[in-house]
Amino acid sequence: MPQALAFFRGKIVPLSEAKVSVTTHALHYGTAVFEGIRGNWNEEQGKMFVFRMREHYERLLQGCRIMLLDIPYDVDDLCRITVELLQACGYKEDLYIRPLAYKSEERVANLKLQELASDFTLIAVPFGNYIDSEGAIRCCTSSWRRIDDTVIPPRVKISGHYVNSILAKTEATLGGFDEAIMLTQDGNVSEGSGENLFMVQNGILYTPLVAHNNLAGITRDSAMTLAKEELGLEIVEREIRRSELYLADEVFLTGTAAHITPVGELDSRPIGDGGVGPITRSLSDFYVEIIRGNNPKYLYWCEEIPLE
Ligand code: PMP
Repeated sequence: MPQALAFFRGKIVPLSEAKVSVTTHALHYGTAVFEGIRGNWNEEQGKMFVFRMREHYERLLQGCRIMLLDIPYDVDDLCRITVELLQACGYKEDLYIRPLAYKSEERVANLKLQELASDFTLIAVPFGNYIDSEGAIRCCTSSWRRIDDTVIPPRVKISGHYVNSILAKTEATLGGFDEAIMLTQDGNVSEGSGENLFMVQNGILYTPLVAHNNLAGITRDSAMTLAKEELGLEIVEREIRRSELYLADEVFLTGTAAHITPVGELDSRPIGDGGVGPITRSLSDFYVEIIRGNNPKYLYWCEEIPLE
């Protein structure tokens, strides 16, 4: 039987025992950095594959540098801890793996990161689809602008800055849409609330620069690699204006949770014919096989977790 466990204060414990005090700094101020990693269960092969684990931990440690979170683990340690936790849990289904480096100091009225102790915790939970929609999704342009790098660095997953994404996602879903597209203060397209964005126009793939305040997405990087290697597409990173999306042939979103999700409608205007475009379809077909360890060429992106 699978067990719900956590890596907490240096060891693996039952998830129900992994608890922090209400005085924990990160609970009050969002002074933490996290990752979202997928473990993909391959039913035919009876194997668990974790997708691009090292890259996720490299990004986590980048966030730790920015937030002065001093945790006693390097990328190798973090990968080892993850393998150990997944083996101890024994899940044989798709997982969401959530590492969190946080200011664990039990002291609230202190805004000096350099004075606050840090810790690291890790959980893994069964996880299916993130966006509850078959086929192409409906998006709106958010009334919330994407936080700027001059406010809180958006390129890494700092917990506190997720309030920005949460306001946008909440507004979109309360309004009957599946997802929000956020613009920068200058009105350039930035990204979805939890996904990077791509646009196809005349067979060329466009995506905003990371400097347009989006997260340096690992699925974004995977999609760009596949577009180039498998479809031979030209990829251009540049400013994208909102109205360009209305006129695009295809728009899609990329993220660990969302995979490659086609956008069929933005602000009640159909994109292309409103369905799933051919380039989006083909990238998505490659991606879903790759993350499950079914494409030998990209097995180097997949870490197999030996399970009993
Ligand atoms: N942007 C935001 C704001 C996100 O939260 C995520 C999910 N991590 C992404 C983009 C996609 O990043 P990745 O492909 O690395 O999951």
